[in-house]
Amino acid sequence: MHFILVGLPGAGKGTQAVNLVEKYQIPHISTGDMFRAALKNETPLGLEARKYMDRGELVPDEVTIGIVRERLQEDDCTKGFLLDGFPRTIPQAEALDGIIDSLNLNLDGVISIEVPEADLLQRLSGRRVCRSCGAAFHILYNPPHKEGVCDQCGGELYQRDDDKEEVIKNRLDVNREKTQVLKDYYNQAGLLREVDGTGEFTEVFKRICQVIEGK
Ligand code: AMP
Repeated sequence: MHFILVGLPGAGKGTQAVNLVEKYQIPHISTGDMFRAALKNETPLGLEARKYMDRGELVPDEVTIGIVRERLQEDDCTKGFLLDGFPRTIPQAEALDGIIDSLNLNLDGVISIEVPEADLLQRLSGRRVCRSCGAAFHILYNPPHKEGVCDQCGGELYQRDDDKEEVIKNRLDVNREKTQVLKDYYNQAGLLREVDGTGEFTEVFKRICQVIEGK
């Protein structure tokens, strides 16, 4: 069960992924989360990634491919994985093909969550994330019980620097064309599955599960 989730920032990849990996018991591999963890721990990787993340730009391919290669070699990936936020470029996709081959694994599908851009802007600017456990909330669609406080662990909620409006616009610009190129790449390989990402979270979740289960 080896899948990739693609979609523009705010399409719901992260939120859906958390629930999907719980249901299917596979590791969730999010390069964004890996970079944020490195940044929090102030590792050399985090400090390098910060330069790009703060501007809403992509971290260079060689850095990103390196951390994914290491992660996919771990034992828990044999059974399956859900990649979230990787690959984002053709060199990353090609490198991933090589890594998967070398590990004797198969990619089962690439799920693209489709959401109109006007909705994405609204979703991203209202997103708040817990500083301690990483849980995500939305000030309109999924507000915490107490403003600014995480329901799950009581941690402080904050707005990611790259969720501020001027950075969001840049992130969408940077990602729009790249996402399409990537979808074309996997479409040609016969692996692309498009899923309507609008509507209730649970509806979108069901649609994705149907794709994963081949229904
Ligand atoms: P995300 O949480 O997936 O939106 O990622 C947050 C930021 O991390 C992005 O805006 C990029 O700066 C960086 N990042 C995450 N994944 C990648 C990737 N596959 N390639 C390059 N940069 C990435």
